[in-house]
Amino acid sequence: MGLKIIAEDIIPARHGRAYVLRKGETLRIHQIVGGQVGDCAFFNADNYRETFHVGQTWATNVILGTGTSKTFQHFYSKPPHENVMLTTTADTYANHWGNNGGRCSRKLYERRDGLTDHRSCQENLTEAVSPYGLTGDDIMDIFNVFMTVDLFTDGTFKIKPTAVNPDDYIDLRAEMNVLAVISACPADTSQTNGGKSAPLGVKILGAQS
Ligand SMILES: [Zn+2]
Repeated sequence: MGLKIIAEDIIPARHGRAYVLRKGETLRIHQIVGGQVGDCAFFNADNYRETFHVGQTWATNVILGTGTSKTFQHFYSKPPHENVMLTTTADTYANHWGNNGGRCSRKLYERRDGLTDHRSCQENLTEAVSPYGLTGDDIMDIFNVFMTVDLFTDGTFKIKPTAVNPDDYIDLRAEMNVLAVISACPADTSQTNGGKSAPLGVKILGAQS
């Protein structure tokens, strides 16, 4: 079945945006110049208390054989809901940091880099949810799309520059009405984005009528 473009947008480098998906619509997050990571929060658009949950999503996909720490077929909401919020229908990169849930924040830049005024995904996401009556306190787990990390058996990890190419994308079909909030990660003091910041593209796709 073909898909038509309902809306499209470019998230400026170092900033965040929010989009409402109707059930059945597909969110495409795509590269513009390549090499850019995004931090994504997902809410049930009809009940903002039901949010994407990394732990339940990672565990359930691994248990059911539908995913790993790096790619999920289904994105689940937090208990006690545990509904499928989104289904991955295409993923040209399939190497994300799916078992983390964190995001860069002002405090992280301060603790790691000694910077007190660096933009962060937490700040970007907070700005983007503000028109929906939500605050930074409402942002729970994050899907670190396109973020590339080596996990080690001693429990540590190493952030690597993402190898995502300009033509890479992921398609997520909404299984409920979803408020999707995406930050073009401003990390430029780590390997996350290869030491720079770039925009991210978004398309909302619907079934061809
Ligand atoms: Zn970030």
